[in-house]
This record gives sequence, structure tokens and C-alpha cells, in this order.
Amino acid sequence: MKYIDHHAHMVSRTTDDYQQMALTGCVAVTEPAFWAGWDRSSANGVEDYFRQLTEFEPGRAAQYHIQHYTWMAMNPKEADDRELSRDVLTRIPKFLDKPTVLGIGEIGLNRVTRNEVDTYTEQIDLALTHRQLILIHTPHLEDKLKGTRISLDAMSGFPKLDPSRVLVDHAEEHTCRMILDLGYWAGLTLYPQTKVSPQRAADIVETFGPERICVAGACDWGPSDPIAVPRFIMEMRRRGHPEELIYRIVFENPVQFLSQSSKFRIRPSVAKELAF
Ligand SMILES: [Zn+2]
Repeated sequence: MKYIDHHAHMVSRTTDDYQQMALTGCVAVTEPAFWAGWDRSSANGVEDYFRQLTEFEPGRAAQYHIQHYTWMAMNPKEADDRELSRDVLTRIPKFLDKPTVLGIGEIGLNRVTRNEVDTYTEQIDLALTHRQLILIHTPHLEDKLKGTRISLDAMSGFPKLDPSRVLVDHAEEHTCRMILDLGYWAGLTLYPQTKVSPQRAADIVETFGPERICVAGACDWGPSDPIAVPRFIMEMRRRGHPEELIYRIVFENPVQFLSQSSKFRIRPSVAKELAF
């Protein structure tokens, strides 16, 4: 079954991972800007990373016939550094016209500090000014519920923000309801050890239905799985769910969300034709 992984940090992965993804049906990935596993020393370092995301990575993915898109952001893990964040934010606009940049992300909170909230709201403002889609990172573990609440509250301060143009990622059982009820998209990110497993993701879909829910592998430099989405497909099949429902979640839903950017080249009208 064809699928789209809307959250994959491919700069940290090998070409073998692209091959595995292609062999398992992946046709497009979107790569949010992220922490590198260590703090950069300057905005120049972050800008080099933006160049890697926009100039280098699409070609590497294309060798495996995978479309590669990306998102620009000051990532949540370094967003507490206000000086660095201000510098990075001045450099983002020139990347927004690049042909594979879909929006601003992943932005959000990590340790839920005042500085992080300030950097986060400035980036929402930046996205609205430049009419960009938004991808939101919600904090993990004990900060998840509080961090998600504060992230959603901050967006309510922007009356012009259209919730259907925002995907709130790393959603879990206890945060899906508040995300979906406010009209946002909810992203489930699948990990092999911690966080949401393919089984828990299937439970969540069974609980909340398929409307405005997407799943992704969120693979990065840590323990993670580039073919987590196919494992979710297998789990859904094992439970007897129809192919149409599974395809909606792993392909049609991300197309519906991402094609709100005119740069996303798979249109909803062709998603049906591409099925299976
Ligand atoms: Zn991420």
C-alpha cells in the first residue's frame, strides 16, 4: 500500500532507509526542521541545516522515487535560547519560497519555559504573515498534557489562524480529543520502544475514527524506525480493518492536509487513482 510519512528526519538516516521506505510503499516524506542531537553554535549552523533540507535532501530522496518536502523552524529544543532564536527567525523567510518548503515546523514546547512560549508564538505569527501551513511538536512524557494545552491555548490568541491548516504532532490517547475538537489535525508518531506503538495508534484510530488523523514514523538520529508506518498498516490489517480505511489514514489524510500548500505535488483528486 502506498503511504506518506509526514514526519521523518531523513538527514539523520542512511540511503538504505530510503530504500526500505520505497520498497514498503512510501511515495513522499515531509521533514520538519529539528534539533540535531546537539546544540548548534550559531544561526549560521542552523542556516546550513536549512540548506541541507531544501537543496540536498530532495535529490537524495528522488533517487528512490520518494518526493521530499520540508518545514522551516527554530526547533523546540533550542527555542529557549532567545538570542539564537531571534537570529534564526530572521533567516527563515528567504527559505519559504523554495519549491519544497510546505510551512513552519516543527515548532512548539520542550520543557515548557517562558522563552520557549515566546519563540513559539513568534513562529505562529511568522507562519500567518507568510501564509504557511504549521506543524506543531508537542512535548513528550510528563510534559505532554500540560504542554499540549499551553500550545493550543497560545494558538487561540491568533483569531486569523485556521485550525485546518495546523497539524499537532506527537498526539496520544489523552491529547487527541482536545486537538480534534478544536479543528486541528492530530499526528500520531510511532516509535519502536517509547511513545506511541503501532498497536496504540490502531487503538487511537478505533477510538477517535479516521477524521483528521495522520500517522508517521518520526525517525531521527535516535532509536526509531523508518518503516513504522508499514508496521501500523500491518497491525490495522491484523485487526481486520478494511484497506480503504487504512489507505485513508496513511495516504489520503496526509494528502488532504499537505495539499493545502500548492507546492505539494500529490493532489487529492489523484489520491484515489493511486490506491493500492
Ligand atoms: Zn520531529
